[in-house]
Amino acid sequence: MFEYRFNVSTLLQEPTGSTRHYELNDERLELGEGLVVKPVQGPVHFTRTIKGVLADVAPHGIVNLECGRCLTPVHQELRFPFSEEFYQTVMVANGAALPPPEEPDVFLIDELHKLDLEPAMREYALLNLPMLPLCQDDCKGLCPQCGVNRNETTCNCEDDVVDERLAALKNLLDKF
Ligand SMILES: [Zn+2]
Ligand SMILES: [Zn+2]
Repeated sequence: MFEYRFNVSTLLQEPTGSTRHYELNDERLELGEGLVVKPVQGPVHFTRTIKGVLADVAPHGIVNLECGRCLTPVHQELRFPFSEEFYQTVMVANGAALPPPEEPDVFLIDELHKLDLEPAMREYALLNLPMLPLCQDDCKGLCPQCGVNRNETTCNCEDDVVDERLAALKNLLDKF
């Protein structure tokens, strides 16, 4: 439904260095485990290389996260630019198979000359997720004893947590 697949058959028939330009717009990218970047926008540049197509992509969008301290939903801008070469697997003219690339785990252009950006976009989006998203810089987090959100409620528990960062770490550990 939300396609990041581009037909590069004509570009593959052009000389090395030939280019295409596209704009991603109003799409969504599922990252798994309920995480979604939406909408996804940004420029896409394709350059014909000897082995296939170099994709320079600079996507950005809003991702739904949880505050690392109080677990409140956080919507945050995510930028995940990348540059990856996609290898041609068959000849455009006659569909003959080309020798597979020597490098392992490279991105491929399929036998219908479709270049699918989605796996690369997902990979780079996950790489660029913040380690500790916060609802606000001074989020007070959850009380480690009674669990109330200390941004909203004051509780009467004894405050024996010496370091707020430890509480954040504990939240994270509890999460996983
Ligand atoms: Zn928070
Ligand atoms: Zn408490």
